[in-house]
Amino acid sequence: GVITHTSTVTTPYRGAGRVPVGIGRKRMRVVVTGGAGFVGSHLVDKLIKRGDDVIVIDNFFTGRKENVMHHFGDHRFELIRHDVVEPILLEVDQIYHLACPASPVHYKYNPVKTIKTNVMGTLNMLGLAKRIGARFLLTSTSEVYGDPLEHPQKETYWGNVNPIGVRSCYDEGKRTAETLTMDYHRGADVEVRIARIFNTYGPRMCLDDGRVVSNFVAQAIRKQPMTVYGDGKQTRSFQYVSDLVDGLMALMDGEHVGPFNLGNPGEFTMLELAEVVKEVIDPSATIEFRANTADDPHKRKPDISRAKELLNWEPKVPLRDGLPLMVNDFRNRILNEDEGKGN
Ligand code: NAD
Ligand code: UDP
Ligand code: UDP
Repeated sequence: GVITHTSTVTTPYRGAGRVPVGIGRKRMRVVVTGGAGFVGSHLVDKLIKRGDDVIVIDNFFTGRKENVMHHFGDHRFELIRHDVVEPILLEVDQIYHLACPASPVHYKYNPVKTIKTNVMGTLNMLGLAKRIGARFLLTSTSEVYGDPLEHPQKETYWGNVNPIGVRSCYDEGKRTAETLTMDYHRGADVEVRIARIFNTYGPRMCLDDGRVVSNFVAQAIRKQPMTVYGDGKQTRSFQYVSDLVDGLMALMDGEHVGPFNLGNPGEFTMLELAEVVKEVIDPSATIEFRANTADDPHKRKPDISRAKELLNWEPKVPLRDGLPLMVNDFRNRILNEDEGKGN
């Protein structure tokens, strides 16, 4: 017969009941910083499912053990309580760097800490990537575009950002993190990937993070009025978390550095969002207007042509299908909170 040579390496299937590693794909050791948070924990679920070894680094500022507890006891999963502002030594193949408070309420709580996390945390993870030759992915944000003067936003847009505002610790922090990432790439040959994530929602979002989707959903469940800030005509584009996780993994495992916008281009005003929440959660839900916060971007919508073309990725879950998927998780947690208060 003909002997064919392939350059692929397969890892033997280890242990019963686990997902075998796909033919041709090396079993990876992966670090997820911020892996006990909302997005991170969903990413961890998918990495474990595909057969990788996963180390989560988290300081539990906004993350919760409950988000990853279902992996305790799995020898491929490790949870390290660690602050990325401090150096750490590990041996891995890939680093997904998510650690950073993401909602305005949390990142404004201690702005200097937010900057340290973005700058020193990212520096440490890049130093780690350099030392061990790991591939590094930064989860940046659509906030690097600031209050955008270009609509929808392409990756080539440089942004309209206030350097001295109350959001600057986050958006300027992420801009610096992107700069560091590119400088390690150019200067030290570190393999890097940059994702610019647009507003994402789903189960395990913090109940009290003040983000609009979590607020409206929790308010509708609690039979409280949904708080619309300003005139409610500002727009956002909302992406379901499983779409984001697919995009992050396609980016990490693909050949392109980016930056890539990862978001759902479906654009809604806050008033329209309130309508959708009303439709899918409680037809009797009401709204209430509140003053808006400073530096609130008026509109935001990703142009995702680059990710479609180069990563072969686009979101699959529209808002009306995604919102119902987070309702049970929110109901259960709100119920637990209420029971806790009664004790
Ligand atoms: P999250 O707050 O749920 O998760 C962040 C995680 O990082 C938490 O588990 C937190 O405890 C941890 N963390 C924070 N500071 C840390 C530190 N110094 N050391 C170690 N761990 C630390 O937020 P998320 O929505 O899951 O966001 C994850 C990443 O995605 C963030 O980098 C965020 O900026 C980015 N992002 C998210 C969105 C979104 O809509 N969710 C949008 C744009 C960008
Ligand atoms: N670093 C780390 N783990 C490592 C290697 C580096 O946390 O395995 C940290 C290191 O402490 C430093 C940062 O990453 O603060 C940047 O490291 P690099 O080697 O690029 O710079 P230098 O140490 O020369 O300043
Ligand atoms: N928002 C709102 N009601 C809320 C919380 C937020 O109308 O209870 C508005 C907020 O003013 C902003 C939009 O919703 O215009 C998105 O806010 P969020 O904090 O979710 O995300 P970001 O501003 O970071 O995009």
